[in-house]
This record gives sequence, C-alpha cells and structure tokens, in this order.
Amino acid sequence: MSLAITGAVLDGHETALRAERGRIAELGPDVAPREDDEVIDASGMPIVPGMWNAHTHAAMTLFRGYGDDMPLMRWLREKIWPVEAKLDADDVYWGTRLACAEMIHTGTVGLWDMYWQPAATARAVAESGLRAVVGGPLIDGGDDGGEKERAELKEHAFRSLDELEAGGERISASLAPHSIYMVSEPSLRWIGACAAEHQLPIQIHLSETEDEVSQCVAAHGERPAQYLDRVGILGPRTMLAHGVWLDEGELDLIAERGATVVTNPVANLKLAVGGVFPYGAARERGIGIGLGTDGAGSNNSLDMLEQTKFLALIQKHAARDPAAAPASEMWEIAIGARSELIKGTGRIAVGEPADLLLLRAHSPVLSVGDLVANLVYAGTGAGVVDTTIVDGRVLMRGGHVADLEEIRERAIERAHRLGIA
Ligand SMILES: [Zn+2]
Repeated sequence: MSLAITGAVLDGHETALRAERGRIAELGPDVAPREDDEVIDASGMPIVPGMWNAHTHAAMTLFRGYGDDMPLMRWLREKIWPVEAKLDADDVYWGTRLACAEMIHTGTVGLWDMYWQPAATARAVAESGLRAVVGGPLIDGGDDGGEKERAELKEHAFRSLDELEAGGERISASLAPHSIYMVSEPSLRWIGACAAEHQLPIQIHLSETEDEVSQCVAAHGERPAQYLDRVGILGPRTMLAHGVWLDEGELDLIAERGATVVTNPVANLKLAVGGVFPYGAARERGIGIGLGTDGAGSNNSLDMLEQTKFLALIQKHAARDPAAAPASEMWEIAIGARSELIKGTGRIAVGEPADLLLLRAHSPVLSVGDLVANLVYAGTGAGVVDTTIVDGRVLMRGGHVADLEEIRERAIERAHRLGIA
C-alpha cells in the first residue's frame, strides 16, 4: 500500500511526499506519484505532523455531559462509578470508536488510554486506524485493601497484557495503576518490578488534587513523586498524568528519573483543581512533557487544538508572562515531540511514520500570519483539519470520517442501555 501527496505546503514551500508501508519514503518538490499509489492532490494545503492525546479514557465519550458541574468525588461516586460497574465490552468498544472518530476529525493520530475492558479499547482503536498505548486501570482498594484485592490486581494485569498483545502493530500495552490512592504499596512495587522485567510503560494519575498530596504526606511521610520513586515506579517509561501539585524537589527527581508528565489543562480547569502544572519549572529541568484531554466525561472535548490553546493561556496567565508558553513549544507538546516516551515523532522526514495532517487551504484562520501560531491560538480541529493520515492510511478526507453515522448510532444505543442518555 502506497500513498502520494502532491502540492502540499511544508514550512511555506510546496512539496510532494510518498509513503510506503506506513513510512515517509520520499519527500521534496520533485517527488512524483508512482503507478499504484493512492494520490491526494493537496494543492495549497499546509502539511503538519498529527497530534498525540497523551492521557485519555476514550470510552468515556458515553459519559459526555453526564454529571457536569459537580464536585469531583461526588461526580465519581454518584454518577460515574455506578454506571462503570455495568459497562461491558461492547459499551467500551463503541464509546472508544466514537472517541476515535472525534480524534480523527480533529487531527489526533495517537492516544494513551487507561480504561476498563482494554481489549475492547484496543480493538476499537485498531479498527479506527489510530495508534494507541493502552492499559486497563489497576486498582486494589489502596492500603485499605487486603490480599484478595492484591491478587485480583495481578490477575487483572496479566489478563490485560495477554489480551493487548493481540492488538496489532499500532497498539502497544502498558501497565496502568490508577493512582497512589487506589493502589496499595505492595501492588505498586509489584507493578514497578513487572514493568521493568517486561520493559513496559506505566501510566498513572499523579498529583491531580492538593488532597492527594496531603494524604500521601500523612500516610507515607513523603510527597507523591518521592513515594512513587521509593516503590520503584518512577523511570523513563513512566507517564504521570496531571502533575498539578509537583514541588521543586519532585520535579528534580522526575527529571533525574526521566519520566514524562502529561498536563490536562482543560480537565483541571473544569474540575477546578485550583492549581496549574508548573510548566516553566518542568521545562527548565528538561522533563518530558505531553498534553492530554483526560476523558470526555470531564473535559468534554477531545480536540487537541483546544487543549493546546488552553495550555498556552493558563501557563502565561499563571506566570504573569506572555512569553512563558510560546506557540511553537505548545505545538511541539501537542504533536508529542517533547517526550521520548510518547510515540509521536513530530517530524516530517524520510523514514518517519506517515502520521500526517493536511489542513484546509481556504481556512479563514490560517490565511494570514504564522501557521503554528494560528493553529495554537485560532484553530479548532474541526475547523482546520481536512485530511488525517495514520501509518500511511487516509482515515479522513474533506472532513468526513468513514462510518461516522453507524458509530454515532451504536454509541447512542450503548448510552441508552446504560441509562445515561
Ligand atoms: Zn485521567
């Protein structure tokens, strides 16, 4: 399978590109389509790398708008957890397909996902054509749980890893301990050792709320990142979601261990966590940084350009400095180029994966001014993305995502079944 794109605009210059077996094989103004290539005439369309949603719970599109404007713990206890107890694999499959359709529509090429029924997530992502790192959430009741819960956590981890192995080459497995308050110390130690043995990434929520920090200090006499390090979870394959309340000492430690922090500015604002991820201090230390939406239940959008603008604005505002979060850096974070762990390469070059976006040639917001600044400050995914290509395959053309009507209908059916729509 091969693809040729002609007439696209790369960094202000017209270029052509060919992709073979999912990678960029040729690039330059003189590249011509070959026989058997699928050809896209992209005259006047800017070409950019696709974005990576580095923290989400994709199937939660089924919960969009369910329990908005409630405090976090009440929302979880009264709305989300009772319905999640009823979720089956088909619910997760169709919720994830709906999320993937939205992500393809808005220019995302890959996601890091943590959700129940991870095999259904993997199947949905694989069939949508996107890439993903998937993990089933591991919980054992925290330090209040007993041996039975810890044994179940291990069994659950092994089962998800087995199931995810069959996900195909665009899907990779991870271990996903939910958080330090939902997983006991012995289980965290076991997860750290298991990830090291199998060279697996770990994704975990960390320091989302100030309460989490004070509870950790009260229980363990140290802050969350220090605790994670002591139990063997903090390393170069560790993805820390949120990191709102990290202090200087924790940032030093995270930098030393080479972990990545994924900031979720819109979800943090909507749930009113009251703090802002310390971007400037993290950047100074060279910490890997990613950007995520979190689930559609708590955002409620999966549009990465929207997240990118919020990230820029909240960082500038918190630092009282408009230079604190330049558009070019925000864009690099959005395409996954600020962390070795996220699979985004962030580059359009021969040999790189063909994970690309073609932007609308006649978009009003892209007409005048710098492309990257326009994307970050004025763009929306639905408004500017015309074509989404992943692994050299065209997943959307002209703003139309394949099978969207069926996906919508089936997702609505699943939400009705769960009694939430
Ligand atoms: Zn989350």
